[in-house]
Amino acid sequence: MINLLNLRTRMNARFARYFSGRFNASVNALRTAIAQRQIVPFYQPFMDAGTGQIAGIEVLARWRHPLYGAVSPDAFIPLAEQHDLIVPLTHLLMQQVIADLQDQIHRFPVGTYICINISAQNCLDPGFEYDTRDMLSKFTANQSHVVVEITERHPLHFTPQLSNWFAALRQANISLALDDFGTGYSNLSYISALNPEFIKIDKLFVSQIGVSEDTRLVDSVIDLAKNMHLKIIAEGVETQAQADYLRRKQIDFMQGYYFCKPLPASELIHQVIAGGRVLVS
Ligand code: C2E
Ligand code: CA
Ligand code: CA
Repeated sequence: MINLLNLRTRMNARFARYFSGRFNASVNALRTAIAQRQIVPFYQPFMDAGTGQIAGIEVLARWRHPLYGAVSPDAFIPLAEQHDLIVPLTHLLMQQVIADLQDQIHRFPVGTYICINISAQNCLDPGFEYDTRDMLSKFTANQSHVVVEITERHPLHFTPQLSNWFAALRQANISLALDDFGTGYSNLSYISALNPEFIKIDKLFVSQIGVSEDTRLVDSVIDLAKNMHLKIIAEGVETQAQADYLRRKQIDFMQGYYFCKPLPASELIHQVIAGGRVLVS
């Protein structure tokens, strides 16, 4: 019986993988998915590079599609951005994060960072500030910090309204992380306008470690962040060699499949309860 169940699970996963390559979302289907709460948060931890303990978790959207399985955000976030659906989608995710974690957050290390990805369209939304304040208030038992990750792949236009919007977040004790650092539009003025607390070094740079002898690119991105007194999260760490190298460079945090893949809430919490920390998978 157990074997049959296992076989069915494996077949379903195989079907989902087969179909997901052919997945082509329509805006109406996405609207329905948001209304029916088929978009759910997955969680990928990141580790303190010094202690190896969980320091934070990043919320990554997944579409739990009845036919296609867990659909990657690359397949629907751009569609949501094009059709004004990113604001309701982010709101839905944040509500679900609160529901998933508010009774479990005490199991995580004190001061765990909870990181939410946003798009340019989320900026100026007054509801977003409300949602972040709400989240912060629900996680006070753990003294959690809420961090907003904004990608530098899409440019932001710094109007006075936008600066006020970011200032309001800062006033609410929400931190900012500049995501995909080194791949997009950021220059020093961009960093000083956003005033982030973290930068996330893109996996493109991390993937070069151990492949090429020439580490000048990743080294200079790390040096730049250090000179600006920003906390560094390296993303896409996949090998021990990469983790060792980044530890030697004394960066602050590491995230990647080497430590843990994005997980549904129940699995993340199970791992935290089982080990007190997420184990290398
Ligand atoms: P991101 O914010 O740069 O997230 C990191 C991506 O790298 C995630 O892909 C994650 O699953 C993947 N990743 C993590 N560790 C590794 C690794 O070791 N190796 C490799 N190759 N990949 C790794 P994912 O979940 O498919 O998300 C893709 C992008 O979609 C995200 O990139 C983010 O820009 C966007 N996204 C995800 N969730 C949301 C959301 O709720 N709102 C918005 N606006 N964008 C989101
Ligand atoms: Ca991110
Ligand atoms: Ca990134």
